[in-house]
Amino acid sequence: MIYDVITLFPELIQDYCSYSITKRGIDEGIISVNTHNPRDYTLDKHKKVDDTPYGGGDGMVLMCQPVFDCYEAVEKKENREFIMLSPQGETFNQKISEELSKKEQIILLCGHYEGFDERIRLGLNPREISIGDYVLTGGEIASLVLIDSISRNIPEYLGKIGSCHNDSFSIGLNGLLEYPHYTKPREYKGMKVPEVLLNGNHKEIEKFRKEESLKRTQKRRPDLLN
Ligand code: SAM
Repeated sequence: MIYDVITLFPELIQDYCSYSITKRGIDEGIISVNTHNPRDYTLDKHKKVDDTPYGGGDGMVLMCQPVFDCYEAVEKKENREFIMLSPQGETFNQKISEELSKKEQIILLCGHYEGFDERIRLGLNPREISIGDYVLTGGEIASLVLIDSISRNIPEYLGKIGSCHNDSFSIGLNGLLEYPHYTKPREYKGMKVPEVLLNGNHKEIEKFRKEESLKRTQKRRPDLLN
């Protein structure tokens, strides 16, 4: 999986990707994360990438030319998705994450300031994705959310740490919330590990987990049961 992130702040992406499982995924060649800065493509001698909005109003708007040229310069794979991070896009979820993990390349376009000149959306025709109904300062955190979530669906990515097959929202759990986990010791501050998890009876354990998953979903997210 190749991620190409178009961003005015490449360090934000690179720094995050130099830690934990993301770093290991890159080191092992399972994913690669490239960054491209529109500022490197601006034809303006002051390296300007934004300007004031026509019609007036607060904030600065990202200009077409640096973004168009930066996008054109990204080497494209056949099986790719081009995503603009935007609070106005479809809301990201596990289903979209699993769908995107089948792609060979994902190009992520991060906005900043007041957002994009509308002609960037019209001319480049990206799929717009939001990570929730709130507004962030820039698309970088949203891009990292997508990179992190999508990569978890690539079978080799989590390696020995485990699979995401039984995580909340996954196909393995029929889209429900995951059951609770316990580890050593058997008792802590008077709270005991449920007996069923200690008896080694896999059928009973599976039944218990299914029931707990259902109970939790019913209580916390009844909307998922539909
Ligand atoms: N003026 C825009 C609006 O009201 O729709 C918001 C611009 S926001 C301050 C700057 C950039 O942050 C956006 O262009 C987008 O790339 C990113 N962003 C902000 N909120 C986001 C969200 N919920 N999901 C994904 N990206 C978001």
